[in-house]
Amino acid sequence: MSHPTDANCIFCKIVAGQIPSFKLLEDDKTIAFMDINPVNPGHSLSVARGHWPMVDTIPADVLGAVAATAQKVAKAVMSELKPNGVNLLQANGPGAGQSVPHLHIHIMPRQPNDGVALNWEYKPGDKAEIEAIYKRLKAVL
Ligand code: 5GP
Ligand code: ZN
Repeated sequence: MSHPTDANCIFCKIVAGQIPSFKLLEDDKTIAFMDINPVNPGHSLSVARGHWPMVDTIPADVLGAVAATAQKVAKAVMSELKPNGVNLLQANGPGAGQSVPHLHIHIMPRQPNDGVALNWEYKPGDKAEIEAIYKRLKAVL
């Protein structure tokens, strides 16, 4: 199946087999492999085969396939490694912490006090502000 590629992209090189990886799963739209900088043991990635940088351009069916592969890996991580919790995390853009601009979902096992700063405190929002933003988004959906 043909899909976009970027010759300079590290994940495209992994998909093409030009760079080795500990490959967990693969199908026609996705591959999954171990992350080389694991935040906890079992940290792995579900990656689209094609080079779509972020959630705004990837076809919905491919995103769905990446999520389904992430689910399979997460189930294996949960049953085999029994972490305290698992985050499925997908970053878009540098401000969101994306370092590889090729869409992927992290399967991130979690332990209490593991230092991963994904949690935030509840701060009640301003209702008028929430509503104003809601109206802008609703208008483009
Ligand atoms: P991001 O920061 O884009 O959400 O996540 C990129 C992830 O890719 C990081 O967790 C990083 O450790 C991982 N990564 C970067 N380069 C490589 C590589 O060459 N091989 C593997 N297996 N993982 C990589
Ligand atoms: Zn790529």
